[in-house]
Amino acid sequence: MENILLKNIDNANSADINEYVKTGGYSAMSKALGMQPKDIIDEIKKSGLRGRGGAGFPTGMKWSFAVADTKFPKYLICNADEGEPGTFKDRPILEKNPHLLIEGMSISGYALGSEYGYVYLRGEYPHAKDVLNRAISEAYEKNYLGDNILGKGIKFHLAVYQGAGAYICGEETALIESIEGKKGQPRNKPPFPVNVGAWSMPTIVNNVETLSNVPYIVAAGGDAYSKIGSRDCPGPKLFSVSGCVEKPGVYELPMGTSLRDIIYKHAGGIRNGKKLKAVIPGGISTPVLPADGIDCAMDFVSMSRAGSLLGSGAVIVMDESVCMVKVAYRAMKFFEHESCGKCVPCREGTDWLRKILERIENGKGKEGDIELLLDVAGIITGKTFCPLGDGAAGVVTGMLRHFRKEFEEHIKQGKCTLQ
Ligand code: SF4
Repeated sequence: MENILLKNIDNANSADINEYVKTGGYSAMSKALGMQPKDIIDEIKKSGLRGRGGAGFPTGMKWSFAVADTKFPKYLICNADEGEPGTFKDRPILEKNPHLLIEGMSISGYALGSEYGYVYLRGEYPHAKDVLNRAISEAYEKNYLGDNILGKGIKFHLAVYQGAGAYICGEETALIESIEGKKGQPRNKPPFPVNVGAWSMPTIVNNVETLSNVPYIVAAGGDAYSKIGSRDCPGPKLFSVSGCVEKPGVYELPMGTSLRDIIYKHAGGIRNGKKLKAVIPGGISTPVLPADGIDCAMDFVSMSRAGSLLGSGAVIVMDESVCMVKVAYRAMKFFEHESCGKCVPCREGTDWLRKILERIENGKGKEGDIELLLDVAGIITGKTFCPLGDGAAGVVTGMLRHFRKEFEEHIKQGKCTLQ
């Protein structure tokens, strides 16, 4: 499959608007502005595109809800707050192919009847901020953004808003709170942002990768797009591969590529000739899979059948030397730190999980600690305000489902038996 999302990123000047236009960039926008907004939404529906931020909600359906709401103005927000450990798939688009995102947002704004867009960028991406701001200025100069895009009387303005480094602001309602200048904490749903979002107006929040698919869908048509990748979850997918592999990096592959192929065919296999032990397939909040669980297609439906989740497509690979107690402990430190504190099961539960894991990791685990971990994880699961709580509990239950013996040995021996 030819790259669609990472097209031309090997060109040192790929972020320059002239280079982007030279290879067909902004031609989808010209085509889109000659279409009716409803027809663009129909193509998105036909394409089968599902949100690439982790939830996998059908994009065309989300857009239909937003256009059905007649309140104005409507806002389009690009969620570029990829803050989950292991996730760096949007970074190459933001830093090397920013005009693809700008073109995607401009077309989406026209289709949705939105005249104002924001890119909510994670605080730790200063280079992406500079690149995006430069690209937005170029797009204004060439009339791809502004009050009268390409002389067609269509208006769309775009600005970058940089977050302050909170993982929870990747959750769409916390992101909206943050963009309004408030503390980033999730809102109650319903009402959903498509009806009551930023400044109480209809707001569509889509991920960087989702919006970057839009130009190709408009150019090639929804039917052509739907033939790429899995039947239930079509299109290209960006996978960020990290950990114990020979060639970590971001790979653009058809959705549904097997986890085995991602690790062995594309990322070069396990480094230093070691054996694979475990994989976290979709970012730290997705349940771990053991080495014999990697013959599964990486798409939303298949990963859920395999006992995990596609998440953001952040594949974290661990070899035989990696201690799973340490991984669980480090993950829980992250969740405890990033819990926004709004609801008790997550605020208190992640703290308790971290404390128990910390003592097991330090050789001070007690009999009954594994049961206690499962008990606390059970108290969190399904009882929190947003998915962060479930993600934290899933780390513990996933680790204990596949690697319970290792935890038991840690407690029994009072140390890690791998070292
Ligand atoms: Fe905040 Fe955690 Fe509750 Fe989400 S689950 S609202 S992050 S305390």
